[in-house]
Amino acid sequence: MNLRIGNGYDIHQLVSGRRLILGGVEIPHHLGLLGHSDADVLTHAIMDAMLGALSLGDIGHYFPPTDPQWKDADSLKLLAQVNQLILSKGWRISNLDSVIVAERPKLKPHLPAMRDRLAEVLQVNVDQVGIKATTNEKLGPVGREEGIAAHAVVLLQD
Ligand code: MG
Repeated sequence: MNLRIGNGYDIHQLVSGRRLILGGVEIPHHLGLLGHSDADVLTHAIMDAMLGALSLGDIGHYFPPTDPQWKDADSLKLLAQVNQLILSKGWRISNLDSVIVAERPKLKPHLPAMRDRLAEVLQVNVDQVGIKATTNEKLGPVGREEGIAAHAVVLLQD
């Protein structure tokens, strides 16, 4: 069995008038993430980790923000496409682990729903999808609630 590992990072600005979608789950909050797509920062970090594991570049290459077809795109649909790409090359997810960094809102109650959604799209078991949430201890732009960031590591096996 061969293994490949990849990591991904993303950050989006928090603004009013946008929905907050993380891991495909809409979370009630007075601010949402700004971006060309639905700005699902967690899903973007996971996609970059999957692509990175196979040295396939990043999501900006496959879904450029300049392309109008990705405007307000459901990031889970993009994730399904990245998963198909990985599967077509003979690889599958062994497991992934991720961290969302957000000062507010409290994300812990929403993590099980995010894991369910991502596992469903990736066609893996829920126990292969790790999602954690932490604050930035009020430090920096994330700590000032100007944005939400996410980190992900994905292990692929053939
Ligand atoms: Mg992004």
